[in-house]
Amino acid sequence: MRVVCKVGTSTLTHATGRLNIRRVEALCRVLSDIKNAGHEVILVSSGAIGMGVGKLNLSARPQDMPGKQAAAAVGQCELMYVYDKLFSEYHHTVAQILLTGEDLRDEARHANFTNTMLRLLSYGAIPVINENDTVSTEEIAVGDNDTLGALVAESVKADRLIVLSDIDGLYTADPRKDPDARRLEEVTEITDEVLSLAGGSGSGLGTGGMATKLAAARICLAAGVEMIIMNGKDPEQLYDVMEGKKVGTRFRA
Ligand code: GLU
Repeated sequence: MRVVCKVGTSTLTHATGRLNIRRVEALCRVLSDIKNAGHEVILVSSGAIGMGVGKLNLSARPQDMPGKQAAAAVGQCELMYVYDKLFSEYHHTVAQILLTGEDLRDEARHANFTNTMLRLLSYGAIPVINENDTVSTEEIAVGDNDTLGALVAESVKADRLIVLSDIDGLYTADPRKDPDARRLEEVTEITDEVLSLAGGSGSGLGTGGMATKLAAARICLAAGVEMIIMNGKDPEQLYDVMEGKKVGTRFRA
């Protein structure tokens, strides 16, 4: 199976912006094992800006463009350093790919990206993809990594996109506020009713939220890619997802 795993800033870092070591170690170990079992693994990782904030000891995520881009330049290095170190422990090789929306919209650049990805997979590497935040301005950006994950999964014809989030899945209401909120186990269509369940971004450091996840699910469903939203706090649950057990919310194509 070809699997794209998207991991958000809230999964990778503490509220301080510093690396959540226990979490990231578990994630790299489990993904390495899934790869050892014969699957192809692609990681779409956020965290560049968040980790830059931590490394530069900034008090909050910068709001202006140069601030965000500078934080991303610092954080992206740190991110790849960590992935290289942890995946190397399990004898896996990572490859960094930074993209903008424009790269995916331009036919020739998109084809180059896809060909390189397929070659990396045939070489047995784990591509680690992020938006090219240091050059990406609003007009040319994909904008959020949930959508980026879906576009990547569509491009390489992945079987599955697993989105690790700070919430267990899609709920009938905000479970942080409503005790009666119920998790949906399976969704087969992004209807207006489903869209109405999305709120804004849940964490302070990331950019996503349920709305961007549903936009990603729509891309996946149209492309015949199954998507799962699950909580990233326990990466061991990725094993359950791979075994087809009921975890999070499954968007079935
Ligand atoms: N590319 C951004 C980062 O690495 C994150 C975008 C997102 O989380 O959707 O910080």
